[in-house]
Amino acid sequence: MKVAHHLARSLAASALALGLVATAHAQDTIRSDIAADMPGLMEIYRDLHANPELSFQEVKTAAKLSAEARRLGFEVTEGVGKTGVVAVMKNGPGPVVMLRADMDGLPVVEQTGLAYASKVRAMSPAGIETGVMHACGHDTHMTGWVATARQLVKRKAEWSGTLVMILQPAEEIGSGALAMLEDGLYTRFPKPQYVLGFHDAAQAPAGFIGYTPGFALANVDSVDIKVKGLGGHGAYPQSTKDPIVLGARIVTTLQTLISRELDPQDAAVVTVGSFQAGAKHNIISDEATLLLTVRSYSDETRAKILEGIKRIARGEAIAAGVPDDKMPMVTMSDTFTPAVFNSPDFTQEQAAYLKTRFGEKRVEQVAPSMGGEDFSRFYRADPDNITSLIFWVGGVPVEEYTKAKKEGIEMPSLHSPFWAPEADTVIATAAEAMTAMTLKLMAK
Ligand SMILES: [Zn+2]
Ligand SMILES: [Zn+2]
Repeated sequence: MKVAHHLARSLAASALALGLVATAHAQDTIRSDIAADMPGLMEIYRDLHANPELSFQEVKTAAKLSAEARRLGFEVTEGVGKTGVVAVMKNGPGPVVMLRADMDGLPVVEQTGLAYASKVRAMSPAGIETGVMHACGHDTHMTGWVATARQLVKRKAEWSGTLVMILQPAEEIGSGALAMLEDGLYTRFPKPQYVLGFHDAAQAPAGFIGYTPGFALANVDSVDIKVKGLGGHGAYPQSTKDPIVLGARIVTTLQTLISRELDPQDAAVVTVGSFQAGAKHNIISDEATLLLTVRSYSDETRAKILEGIKRIARGEAIAAGVPDDKMPMVTMSDTFTPAVFNSPDFTQEQAAYLKTRFGEKRVEQVAPSMGGEDFSRFYRADPDNITSLIFWVGGVPVEEYTKAKKEGIEMPSLHSPFWAPEADTVIATAAEAMTAMTLKLMAK
């Protein structure tokens, strides 16, 4: 996840009194089996947490988990999309179900104070040394993945079909899913009909499941605008075209894209996160650079906003009298992350099923988030034939959550150096949900 996301307030409210009392399914032992496995799973978790790796550097992580998958009897291929892993188990006729966990940590210096906190340092692609931390909780995703694999292998007699379990690299830079697809995820390996994943949530109590039918996470675009002007002396503006004044106009006019051009029901964001120009008080520079993040849900809205940015930049430059050969240059970054779309009917069906397992109050529909997740790629690669769902699993200890809500304390978000989820609850909840849903999809 690139940005802190939060579950709807309604979920927050109903969470309070509840704790983790829930209805165990009388007819199976998934929950108690995962609980019995938890000491070993937590060892894996603590090891992953203490040894995070940056995007596309997940070499040791991939090796450790590949070994575990091989031990369980999967056919394992490493190095798919640079550092990705594909583990396949063919178990008779039936659907192909793909379960995904992402592996990368973030360039964050951990400050949780946990006994198993990361002290790892690494080189970023830009050549800058940085601390590394699993500040997005991908270590809970991977441990949940292991827990699910173990349960499904144990119950191999109960299902029929092909299980594809993947470990995706580089989610945090929005590139890993695409890298795996381009490296033949759907051609060299069985192509799934169903794709499932989960993400821990830093704004929801531990053990809660949040789901969003339809668009759940946003299109994420990065846009650079190079504003050109004619530089000169700060005391003689008449002989210049000031790119700072022009840039400022562009920044404010861009805000009308959302407020005046979009349907108010169609959520989107244009944020100018960086505005750089000039070097000295009395010099009018000849260039300014704006860096934007743009969020939207549908392809149409995305196209409309991106087109609008070009039009506004050019229009303001014309209004400022900038010559034709110095029109602003607008470039879209190629690391676009498409919006996550949860197949609506499928999501509702799965949610209804999860409610029977976890109780009505532990499973709630939540609002879409403006964050991004490249999980979307697995569905978008073939939307006519693939059904997919990613759901949230709350990670804030219930007591801490209740106190924070009562006293109005801001809780650490995902990507915070202080984010320390109640890992065993996240892992147990996610693994039970994933195992149960997969068994249902592949039931004999
Ligand atoms: Zn993240
Ligand atoms: Zn994430």
